[in-house]
Amino acid sequence: MDYEGQICRTPMEGSAFGLPVMVGCSYNACKFCGLFKHLKWRVLPLEQVEAECARVKGLGGAPKKIFLGDGNAFDLDSGHLLEIIRLVRGYFPDVEAFNMDATVTSILQKTDDELRALYAAGVRHLYLGIESGLDDVLRFMNKEHTLAQAYQAVERLQAAGLIFDAHVMTGVAGAGRSEEAAHALAEFFNRTHPTHVCNFSLFVEESLPLGQELLRGRFHAASELDNLKEDRLFVSLLRPDAAHPLTYDSFHDFLGLRVRGTLPADREKMLARLDQFIAEEEKEEQPRYSFLPKDAHPTFDDRTGRYHWDSSIPAV
Ligand code: SF4
Repeated sequence: MDYEGQICRTPMEGSAFGLPVMVGCSYNACKFCGLFKHLKWRVLPLEQVEAECARVKGLGGAPKKIFLGDGNAFDLDSGHLLEIIRLVRGYFPDVEAFNMDATVTSILQKTDDELRALYAAGVRHLYLGIESGLDDVLRFMNKEHTLAQAYQAVERLQAAGLIFDAHVMTGVAGAGRSEEAAHALAEFFNRTHPTHVCNFSLFVEESLPLGQELLRGRFHAASELDNLKEDRLFVSLLRPDAAHPLTYDSFHDFLGLRVRGTLPADREKMLARLDQFIAEEEKEEQPRYSFLPKDAHPTFDDRTGRYHWDSSIPAV
């Protein structure tokens, strides 16, 4: 199958067979997200999904885990999702789990009976873009949910047996709010008990709506140092119990940092790694920002194995 757009799959699903069932994201309006802005959302025909299953089976594939793509596959009508699962099982009878991204709205729009039927058919992990524990931030970023709705969605999906996993973003609350953001998000997760949390620390691209807000002076980006400190505080505040450990995976792409581990067991190791990067960042003469201007000309540095460009934010 020709893949349309950027492959968007949480690292926890790296070993799954990624099977696209839609192109793009049916919501596609979060201010910070550029994954699918260039695509027109549409549902892929079942014939196309089936052809991909036949192709993979023909290559000897026998997946145990399937990740349905793209942006928010759980938004599909429950009947359509069940039809996809039935079709896939015809090719791969040993599949143990169908996992996918979901929005809070896509869960709330389904009835409890539908959620239970999807669980019975094999749906397991749902990855929700929670992003922030602060309502005004969710509103400003044009997320489709409030915090109260997020609590409600998590409660309902867990009651049906489905597994709650989350995506978050350090830096999303903007400059001067790192501590407040870390406390709010930790409180949300300490009450909702996700299995996996993945942090994609905020990266502002000028070409996206958030980049325009930044240039208009309506969003003030936190520095990379602040984002690291927010991450450190967040990790220190998360309180999963030993019987229900939490896998945490955190990416600060601008700095080339990835911190991962299982909480509570790996907490000290993860904090030490963040401390190391905080100490390095404190040596910088000027604060650094993960900002990508429209006219950036990244150059590849063989020594660091990373791209570099002028990421300074223009004065407003
Ligand atoms: S719901 Fe997810 S994929 Fe869709 S626009 Fe928002 S962040 Fe991007």
